[in-house]
Amino acid sequence: MGIKYSNKINKIRTFALVLIFAGIIIMYLGLFFQRTPLVMTLFMLLGFLAIIASTVIYFWIGMLSSKTVQVVCPSCGKQTKMLGRVDACMYCNEPLTLDKSLEGKEFNEEYNNKKIKE
Ligand SMILES: [Zn+2]
Repeated sequence: MGIKYSNKINKIRTFALVLIFAGIIIMYLGLFFQRTPLVMTLFMLLGFLAIIASTVIYFWIGMLSSKTVQVVCPSCGKQTKMLGRVDACMYCNEPLTLDKSLEGKEFNEEYNNKKIKE
């Protein structure tokens, strides 16, 4: 698994959004099984659970947001939220770090390619 240059909060938010749509689609698919109420109930329940899960994730993002550090991206100049010691800019995916010792280390291009490094 390589290091992805994308913002963590954005990733979680995208996942929650996908989950909402998945839930709606699953519930919709359940309508095709109206002759078999058991299957329909199962689909409805699954879809409902997916929507509940995404709501929980949205709450979780809210909680995480309070722990994030706001920094101004040196690349695009926009204010972005960072989660953890290393994260990417929300707008341009510029790798950012709060730890000076990790600078150029965590997101080193060679770090991504282990074949070259070893
Ligand atoms: Zn940026």
